Amino acid sequence: MSFDTLGLDRGLLKAVHAMDYEQPTPIQEQAIPLALAGRDIVGCAQTGTGKTAAFILPALQRTQGRKGLHTLVVTPTRELAAQIYDVARDCSRHTGQKAAAVYGGVGYNPQVTALRRGVDLLVATPGRLLDLHSRHDVDLSQVEILVLDEADRMLDMGFWPDVRRIMALLPKQRQTLLFSATLSSDVMKVAGSTLTNPARIEVAPSATPIAAIEQSVFPVNGHQKTDLLVRLLEKHQLDRVLVFTRTKHRADKVARHLERSRIRGAAIHSNRSQSQRQRALDGFKNGTYRVLVATDIVARGIDVDSISHVINYDLPVNAQDYVHRIGRTARAGATGSAISFLAAEETQELRDIERLIGARIPCEDVEGFAYQERVVPDPERSFERPVRQVYAGRRGGSVGGSRNNTRRRGGPRPARAAR
Ligand code: AMP
Repeated sequence: MSFDTLGLDRGLLKAVHAMDYEQPTPIQEQAIPLALAGRDIVGCAQTGTGKTAAFILPALQRTQGRKGLHTLVVTPTRELAAQIYDVARDCSRHTGQKAAAVYGGVGYNPQVTALRRGVDLLVATPGRLLDLHSRHDVDLSQVEILVLDEADRMLDMGFWPDVRRIMALLPKQRQTLLFSATLSSDVMKVAGSTLTNPARIEVAPSATPIAAIEQSVFPVNGHQKTDLLVRLLEKHQLDRVLVFTRTKHRADKVARHLERSRIRGAAIHSNRSQSQRQRALDGFKNGTYRVLVATDIVARGIDVDSISHVINYDLPVNAQDYVHRIGRTARAGATGSAISFLAAEETQELRDIERLIGARIPCEDVEGFAYQERVVPDPERSFERPVRQVYAGRRGGSVGGSRNNTRRRGGPRPARAAR
């Protein structure tokens, strides 16, 4: 399948080629023709599947040649807004349309100036968009296409009342495209009340690169997690590492500890200012920082290539978040590793994750580390799962490319689960 067959105009195809997209991804292949035909869409796709271009390209085409704010993309975080804006700017290079992004944490003036100059496609976080609207800085009366990106996250973050307020400001006659990493009953409920006869598109989770991720669990006393992290970073070749903590406070604490250990790292979470967040993200992207310590909400959707390792300093409470977290590595066909620290009080979370993914994640030790008392899960523990199989760990690979310094516990790795 090539982009040429999807019904896109020359200008957009030129932009797609300039972006080095050779073939459409599955979500693009499915969503672009439907969106071009004017259908409402419910799309189930995680970041990394190419979903942004799947809604930006048809939106640009359908609104081309008519000046005015015709496309509105609402997304939960500033980072996502900035990323979507980048794609919109690249895609609209030859269409004469203007994109802009508005989000909180930065001054109003540049955003207001951009809006006054005229914008055809606006990417926004809900709070800032409503602020700008109440100040009469943005006119939403001409919006024809509304994209709700990461709808599940907007629900989780309590943004839905704001999203409803935004929808009430838009013309009733419009096309709505809703994308979500999961199609939970809550998401389907809001989709049912917001969309008209939507086409449902699901990119099977097995089509994501997650099968290429080497997963392991490191049982450790909770108080030793930071030492274990430093030890792993010092002794092993972990190049570009995304560390997840459960709280903002802990993200800061870990980042400070890394600094004391002379490991180049930064923290990113919602209590940090926008410029601090951008600096941390840019530094991580350009290699200034080897380690980025993050909480789920901010890290979700961060598009950084070649993350070699995801380390779950704390396991997520929600098993689905585990899948989102580890999906940050092994992007674009590369392989990656996901390491999860496991304190005694997190065994239930591990059980939930293993049931969700339908596989037992093997336990490992770091050789020579002075482990204090800890709980090591039963190597025969059940990971039976009533629902469909999502993905399984991969054979081979290692922490930093070599198993020499780590010792696998609990016997052989369980067989790869069927997908
Ligand atoms: P997204 O899921 O929209 O965040 O996209 C993830 C990454 O895939 C981004 O870095 C895009 O530039 C890239 N991408 C999107 N579509 C394609 C494509 N058809 N071919 C190659 N890369 C793509």
